[in-house]
Amino acid sequence: MAATKIAVVGIGKIARDQHLPAIARSGAFELAAAISRNERVEGVENFTDIQAFLRNRPDVAAVSLCAPPRPRLQMAVSALEAGRHVLLEKPPGATVGEVEALVALARKKGVVLFATWHSRFASCVEPARRWLSGKTIRHVEIVWKEDVRRWHPGQAWIWEAGGFGVFDPGINALSILTAIAPPVFVTDATLEVPENCQTPIAAQLTMRGVTGFEVTADFDWRQEGPQTWEIRVDTDAGLLVLADGGSRMSIDGEQRPGGLEAEYDGIYARFAGLLASGESDVDLAPLKLVSDAFMIGRTVDVDAFHD
Ligand code: NAP
Repeated sequence: MAATKIAVVGIGKIARDQHLPAIARSGAFELAAAISRNERVEGVENFTDIQAFLRNRPDVAAVSLCAPPRPRLQMAVSALEAGRHVLLEKPPGATVGEVEALVALARKKGVVLFATWHSRFASCVEPARRWLSGKTIRHVEIVWKEDVRRWHPGQAWIWEAGGFGVFDPGINALSILTAIAPPVFVTDATLEVPENCQTPIAAQLTMRGVTGFEVTADFDWRQEGPQTWEIRVDTDAGLLVLADGGSRMSIDGEQRPGGLEAEYDGIYARFAGLLASGESDVDLAPLKLVSDAFMIGRTVDVDAFHD
C-alpha cells in the first residue's frame, strides 16, 4: 500500500527529536511538507502558514501538529475543515472543551483525529496494565521530577496561561495512570507558581480511585541531577514500580523485561491503524485531571523563575 503523505506543523524540539525521525522510519507515512514560521526541513516543501499549505497541497492527507497546545487549536480546526486527518501532540488542547469541539468537527468531516499520549507507548506500560488487571490497588504514588532547563530550554509558552507549566510533563504520568488503573478524580491540589509566571513550576495532587484507593502525585520542574519519573502501585499482590517514564518495571523489587524504547514508532503505527479503520482515538482522561487540579487547586507563590 502507498505511504500516506503527511506534513508536520511546528518544527521545534519534539518535531525534530521524535516526529521527523519516526516518520522517516515508518513505512506507512511519507513526509511531504513542513509548516513552521521560523524553521525549515530539508528535502520537502516548506510553508510558514498552514492556510497556504492547505490551499496548495491537497495531496497531503494527514498532518501532525507539534506546536504548543494554545496555537495548535486553530491549526487543528483549519486542517479538519480542509478534510485532513489530524494527529495531535500531547496535551491535545489547552482546554477540555476545545478538544471535544475538535472531536465533533472530525466526526462531521469524516476524518481521523488522534490525540497522542506518547508515554502510553513506553515499553512497560502495557505489561503493567496487564499485570494490574484483576488485582486490588491499595495506593499509588507518582513522583515526576525533572529539570525544566534541560527539557524545555528557552521555551516561553510553558509559562504562559494555557501552557501547563509542570503539568506539561506531569500529564505524561497521568496518561500512564489512566491507562493502567481504574478511573480516578482529583480531591486536592497545591500549585506552586513562580511570581513572574502564570503556570506552576511544581504541583502536589491527591486523587482517589473509584474503587477507593488514594493516589498522590508530586510534580516538580526544579530537579537537577538524576531525573525521576516513577509510579509506585501498591496492590494486594505486591508492589509494581514503573520507572524511567514507563520504560522499566519491577514487581516486589524484581526487574521485569521491557521491550525496545520506541514511543513515537508506536504512535505512528497506531495512527496508520486508525487511518486504515477510519476511527478516531481521543481520550480526555489525563487532560480532565489537569483541568480539575487547576479548578480546585490552591495557589502558592514561589521564587521567580529565570531560564
Ligand atoms: P517547541 O520546541 O517550543 O516547538 C514548538 C514549535 O511550534 C515552535 O518551535 C514554533 O515553531 C511552533 N509554534 C507555532 N506557533 C507557536 C506559538 N504561538 N508559540 C510557540 N511556538 C509556536 O516545543 P516542543 O517542546 O517541541 O513542544 C511542542 C509540543 O510537544 C507540546 O505540546 C509538548 O508538550 C509536546 N512534547 C514535548 C516534548 C519535549 O521533550 N520537549 C516531549 C513530548 C511532547 P515556529 O516558530 O517555527 O513556528
